[in-house]
Amino acid sequence: MNPLEELRHSASHILATALLRIFPDAKLDIGPPTDTGFYYDVDLDHKLTTEDLAKIEAEMKKVADENQPFQRKEVSREEATEIIKKIGQERYKLGRLADIPEGEKISFYQNGEFIDLCAGTHVRYSSKLKAFKLLSIAGAYHRGDEHNKQLQRIYGTAFPTKEELAQHLERIEQAKARDHRKLGRDLKLFVIDDDVGQGLILWTPNGSIIRQELQNFISEELRKQGYSQVFTPHIGKLELYKTSGHFPYYKESQFTPVVENESLAKLLHEGCSCAEMVVRLEAVSAQLAEQINQRTGKVTITPDRVKPNDQLLDGFMLKPMNCPHHIKIFASQPHSYRDLPVRLAEFGTVYRWEQSGELNGMTRVRGFTQDDAHLFCTEEQVAAEVLGCLALVKIVLTTLGMSDYRVRVGLRDPDSNKYTGESANWDKAESACREAAKTLGVPFTEEPGEAAFYGPKIDFVIKDVIGREWQLGTVQVDYNLPVRFDLSYIGADNQPHRPVMIHRAPFGSMERFCGVLIEHFAGDFPAWLAPEQVRLVPISDKVNDYGRGLLDQLKAAGVRATLDEHSDKLGAKIRRAELDKVPYTLVLGAKEAEAQSVSVRSRAKGDEGVTPFATYLEKLKTEIATRALPEKKRPETNPPAS
Ligand SMILES: [Zn+2]
Ligand SMILES: [Zn+2]
Repeated sequence: MNPLEELRHSASHILATALLRIFPDAKLDIGPPTDTGFYYDVDLDHKLTTEDLAKIEAEMKKVADENQPFQRKEVSREEATEIIKKIGQERYKLGRLADIPEGEKISFYQNGEFIDLCAGTHVRYSSKLKAFKLLSIAGAYHRGDEHNKQLQRIYGTAFPTKEELAQHLERIEQAKARDHRKLGRDLKLFVIDDDVGQGLILWTPNGSIIRQELQNFISEELRKQGYSQVFTPHIGKLELYKTSGHFPYYKESQFTPVVENESLAKLLHEGCSCAEMVVRLEAVSAQLAEQINQRTGKVTITPDRVKPNDQLLDGFMLKPMNCPHHIKIFASQPHSYRDLPVRLAEFGTVYRWEQSGELNGMTRVRGFTQDDAHLFCTEEQVAAEVLGCLALVKIVLTTLGMSDYRVRVGLRDPDSNKYTGESANWDKAESACREAAKTLGVPFTEEPGEAAFYGPKIDFVIKDVIGREWQLGTVQVDYNLPVRFDLSYIGADNQPHRPVMIHRAPFGSMERFCGVLIEHFAGDFPAWLAPEQVRLVPISDKVNDYGRGLLDQLKAAGVRATLDEHSDKLGAKIRRAELDKVPYTLVLGAKEAEAQSVSVRSRAKGDEGVTPFATYLEKLKTEIATRALPEKKRPETNPPAS
C-alpha cells in the first residue's frame, strides 16, 4: 500500500474499533482503502443512521487520541481460527481466512482492544489519523453477490492534513450541486419514469433543446468533413446480428429478441417448449457455422447449435449497434476506389441490457443515441481518416470549454490470441492510431490489451472543472466486420479489395454526453445551448406592452426568450430567472421603455448596465451564432502593491 492507502486503511481499523465500542454485536467483513477514502462492511441488526455516523466519528477521534500502536502478529491457520472465534467474528472472518492461500502468511493487527485479520500495512500509531470523516452508509452484498446477505457499508475518507480533507469535502459538495440527476430535475431537462422503464431517458422540452443544438453543431462539422447523413430503423433481423457476431456472443447485454408471430404460432402448433424455442433461437445454419469456425480457426459454434434451415427461428432484435445497418447501406452499391472513403453518420439509437444496479441517470442507461458513424476506406486512407475523427472531437471539446482531456490508445496484447485478423494489418492500424494521437498535442498513453477484438482504438477521457474524469466515446479501426459481411471495392487494378472500417462515436451517446455537460457547466449553459436564452422582466405592469414588443423581436431573431408577466416583486422575478439559470435577464422599466433600451443582467458577469435593445440583440446574435462560451466575470482589480 502507498502511504495514503495505508492511512485510509488504518482509518477503517479505527472505524471498526469505534463501531464495536458502540455496537458490540456488529459482525465485521472487510475494510479496504478506495481511490477516494475507505469503507468497512458490517453486519448489524440496527440500521445505521447519520446520527450514528456522527457518534462513531466522535468515538474514532477518541481512538485516534489514545495513540494506539498498530501491532502485527503472525499466526498459524489454527491459531487464526481460535482468535476469530474468541473475538466472536466467525460469521465473515472465517470465510476471509479461508480465502488466504495455503502457504501464505496469516497475520492479525491489533490496536488497543481491537484485533483484525489483516495482511497490512498500517500507520504506526492511531494518532497519525488527524483528518478523517465518515461520509455515508450504503447497502452492499457480501462479496458483491446479490444472493448473499446485504451488509451496511460505512464510507469515509482520510487525508494527511485537515486542509486536504477540507478541499476534498468541498469537491464532494460541488459534485452534489452539479449532479446531473438533480439539475436535470430542477431545470426540467429529462425524466425517467418507472412506467416507461428504468434506464430509458425521456427528454423533456428543455433537455431536447440542448440535445438538438448539440446535434446541429456536430452535424455541421460532419458536413464540413464530407460525411453523409443516414437514418436506419431501431430493429434488425436476428440473422443480421448472427452474421455480425453480436448475437449470441453478447446476448447477456442485449434485450431478448422479438420472435415473429407466425413463427411463434407454428412452434405452438408443434407443441414446442420454451426451452426448445430458446435453443432454436440461438441456433445457426450449417453454412454460417462453417464460415465462423473457419474464420476463428476453432470450433466457435458447436454442433449442437447447428440446425437445419427450417428449424432456425428468426425474429428481430432491438439494435445493440448501428454498424450492421450501415454496412448494408454501403454494400447496397458497388464501389470503386474513387468513391472511398464513404462516411455514413447517424444519430443512431441502440439498446443494451444493463443490470438495474448499474443504471445511473443519463450516464448509464438502457437505450441511447450514439453520435455514430462508420467510415469505409482503403488501407492507405486509415491514418488520415482517424486524424479527421480526432480533429472533430477536438473542435467540439474546445467549443464546449472542455480543454482538459487525455487520450488512450488501446493496442492488442501481443501474447493473446483473442484478436482476429492478420498481424501485418494490426501493425498498420496501430501505428495509424499512434501517429494520429501524437498530432493531437495532448498527453496520450498506449495500453496493450485494451484494443477491441477486431482492431485498435482511441478513447477520450475528459476531466471536468472539479477534476473528475469521464470516459467519452472511441474511434476504432476494424478489419473484421468487412470480412464477415464480405465487403469489397474495385481497386485501381480492377480487382476487388477489402475496405477497412472505422467506427467512431466520439461522444459515446447523446445521453451520456449531455449528462456530462450538465455537470461540466453545473447547469449554466452557454447561450447557444441554454433552453431559455433571455428572460424579459418588466418592473411593473405598465411596461408589459414594451416587453411583448421586445419578445416578438427576439423570437423573430430566433432567440429563445420568455416574458415574465407575473405580478410579484422585481427581486422575486430576478431570483426566479437565476434559479432557472437563464443566461440573460433583461430588466425593463419606464425609462428603458422610453429609450428603447434594456438593463442587462448576465448570469456570468452580473449587472452589465443599460444598453439600447438593438445593440444588445446584435451582440447576443453573434454570441449564439459563434457558440461562444460565457465570458468570465472580470477579476476584481486590486490596488497596486506599493
Ligand atoms: Zn488492516
Ligand atoms: Zn460500429
